[in-house]
Amino acid sequence: MNRRKFLTILGSAGVVSALGTAQVAKASGGTTTYPYYENSYGVLHDTTRCIGCRRCEKACQQVNNLPMPAKPFNDLEVTATKRRTTADAWTVVNRYMIKNPEGGKDKPVFRKLQCYHCNDPACASACFAKCFKKEPSGVVSYDGSQCVGCRYCMVACPFYVPGFQYEEAWDPLVLKCTFCSPRLQKGQLPGCVEACPMGALTFGKRSDLIKIARKRMDKEPAKYVDYLYGEYDAGGTAWMTLSGVPHAELGMDMNLGNRPMGELTAGALGAVPMIIAFWPVLFGGVYGITKCKERLVKKEQEKAIAAAQAQTKQALEAAVENIEKTQGVEAAIQVRQALKTAQQPPSDGSCCCSSKHGEGV
Ligand code: SF4
Ligand code: SF4
Ligand code: SF4
Repeated sequence: MNRRKFLTILGSAGVVSALGTAQVAKASGGTTTYPYYENSYGVLHDTTRCIGCRRCEKACQQVNNLPMPAKPFNDLEVTATKRRTTADAWTVVNRYMIKNPEGGKDKPVFRKLQCYHCNDPACASACFAKCFKKEPSGVVSYDGSQCVGCRYCMVACPFYVPGFQYEEAWDPLVLKCTFCSPRLQKGQLPGCVEACPMGALTFGKRSDLIKIARKRMDKEPAKYVDYLYGEYDAGGTAWMTLSGVPHAELGMDMNLGNRPMGELTAGALGAVPMIIAFWPVLFGGVYGITKCKERLVKKEQEKAIAAAQAQTKQALEAAVENIEKTQGVEAAIQVRQALKTAQQPPSDGSCCCSSKHGEGV
């Protein structure tokens, strides 16, 4: 089940309307829908130029002071595993073996994955604490100072990008590619773009990148599939992908549709009314008063979150039962599975969803 279908089923099952989407949206400060920023930046990944050297991965770790991975960056075999981004690895390059229609050797094609910096990000609309924000520069920023670790952003992201600091006992954060925002502000290129030896990553105004991509596709129609991934997918993204083979063969989800997913995630947020009800108590009042009360506040916070989670579980159970009644057992099983998967921490530190999900990104 793809993410759009999952959220649509939740919404259409009545859980959203029964709980009052409008009220919930109002209570959480309204559903954020961002305008399209004409002058925003983006990056074009041309997979026909990418050789899977992982220098972009290495540069990302270096410029962001992220821990070095267990296997060194010159081990290119790791690209054969369909890795996901994590809190410690904000970009990964994976290899896809493409069948040769003439029966020769399979051809490797590499795809880089990171936050796509969506035009109207689902992570932002799912976050009732408003930690995520689409900036006019094109960056989707994250401010963890008010993050409660509910991980609804992770469930909402159509590309399964944000990673959670499962190892952090206190104040774990959700981490993802920042688009190297601090570097952009200094007039520098994103670390990964600067490090790419093949010119596979092009940074620029999103509108210019679309023109560049069109030019490449028009000039060499035999080399490129006539489709720019991210131009419209999920409402459009700042990072876009060109390919010489159908994007689906690179594990890219072709079923996201062209409308922003925010409206669906904002709807699914209706399943967590208790969290919203607790919001002013958690942060507007007790949490922000003084440093010395932190310990007490933590307890309050934990208690409130536990209560909210219990209510959420109850609401979701009722929704699944409703789905079973209206849409059949099969749909209910899929929703149950998707919920279970979304709540699981990664077993190997690299993935928080099933391999089926991993293949879909
Ligand atoms: S790719 Fe995911 S995390 Fe990044 S902006 Fe889009 S919804 Fe948010
Ligand atoms: S833009 Fe920066 S943070 Fe994002 S993948 Fe590239 S190097 Fe990493
Ligand atoms: S540095 Fe460039 S060529 Fe190397 S894997 Fe990354 S995008 Fe591909």
